[in-house]
Amino acid sequence: MRGKIIDDCFRPAQALMRHADAIELLRSRIAPIAPSETVRLKAALGRILARPVAAAHPVPAHTNSAVDGYAFAYRDYDRDSGAAFEVSARAAAGHGLSVPPPPGTAVRIFTGAAMPPDLDTVAMQEDCTATGGAASRVRIPGGLKPGANVRGAGEDVAAGAELFAAGHVVRPQDLAALASIGLAEVDCFARLRLAIVSTGDELIRAGEADLASGQVYDANAPMLGGLAALAGCEAHDLGIWPDDADEVRARLAAAAETFDVILTSGGASRGEEDHMGAALAALGSRHFWQLAIKPGRPMMFGQIGRSIVAGLPGNPVAVFVCFLMYVWPLLRRLSGAPWPEPRRIPMRAAFELPGRKVGRREFWRGMLVETADGPAVDKFARDGSGLITGLRMADGLIDIPEEVDAVKRGDTVPFLPFTEFGILGR
Ligand code: AMP
Ligand code: MG
Repeated sequence: MRGKIIDDCFRPAQALMRHADAIELLRSRIAPIAPSETVRLKAALGRILARPVAAAHPVPAHTNSAVDGYAFAYRDYDRDSGAAFEVSARAAAGHGLSVPPPPGTAVRIFTGAAMPPDLDTVAMQEDCTATGGAASRVRIPGGLKPGANVRGAGEDVAAGAELFAAGHVVRPQDLAALASIGLAEVDCFARLRLAIVSTGDELIRAGEADLASGQVYDANAPMLGGLAALAGCEAHDLGIWPDDADEVRARLAAAAETFDVILTSGGASRGEEDHMGAALAALGSRHFWQLAIKPGRPMMFGQIGRSIVAGLPGNPVAVFVCFLMYVWPLLRRLSGAPWPEPRRIPMRAAFELPGRKVGRREFWRGMLVETADGPAVDKFARDGSGLITGLRMADGLIDIPEEVDAVKRGDTVPFLPFTEFGILGR
């Protein structure tokens, strides 16, 4: 079910909005909109679980040997002096014994084999001495504890245990956990259908033509396509829209019929050639945000029917930062995950910044570096929000709170690794 999701979410234009207030506003008003569907395990990587998942059976299902060696009953064993046994049978993984071995005997056993009935302890083969003609006897040294080298049924997961809550994002190791409890498919939230729009008469697409004077290759659409895909959305590129009021409005109206979310870049300020805001206001609800952040001060949010529109700035660095800070958690939440506040890692500053204008939250591009004093984060030296080089060099963002007026070398600064946003690296 989905109604007006961001109804009355955005207050009228106000003075600069603080980052934390913007996050709180989004966090408190955005609710999941995606329906659920059944997904084969093979296709579930990165998907968001629509229901909690509990184990119907214990894992492992059967008590089994953790090593290659000899299984025996501890009651037949002497911890001080060890014991010698006749080897009466063989148990390999997938080929366990169905009947108990004769009392007082040991069983040759291999890793993963179910423990033979009545036996409870395994000695590693490296510690044992096989004796007798056809290795039919074995000498086991002292010192083993009862139950040594045995993996108990349910020691990984007890029957009935909840493995995942609804909203969990499935990682490769989670696929192992899901398969280990016997699931071949899981209920996941459907991927959001997301449209990506670039705006600006100066833009052309790489590969389409050589740059004419004043033209710029569209860098935002490929970047947003990647970010949206890594955020688990089904991204659709709607191309470059011209700086033309009627055209923008018609295309926006059409896109709102089809997509859950429309992500635009550029044309989001209040300039004469910024038509996105007017189109959004005419077709639905629109709210300008003037954020007290750098980079990326103007942003727009709105809704047309059931479609949510996020209007990002035009400069690529501002687009990237605003996507990570506001759009990424919004997409995750709309997709059914809990609101994800990225985790800040305290890092030592390898740079200094003596005088800083307070009152504004800044997100600097940061590189992880090794220094004589250990790991630290360095700041990309230049500031411009059009410098894609800083994004390319960076491992994450250095999050500088509003009130900080200086950073000294060696100070601790909060660092947001790009991996927090599911951005691959290394
Ligand atoms: P705007 O907000 O439309 O005034 O754009 C601000 C700046 O970002 C301008 O210099 C634009 O040329 C640039 N810009 C806007 N969209 C893109 C894009 N898709 N790729 C690269 N640069 C862009
Ligand atoms: Mg523009």
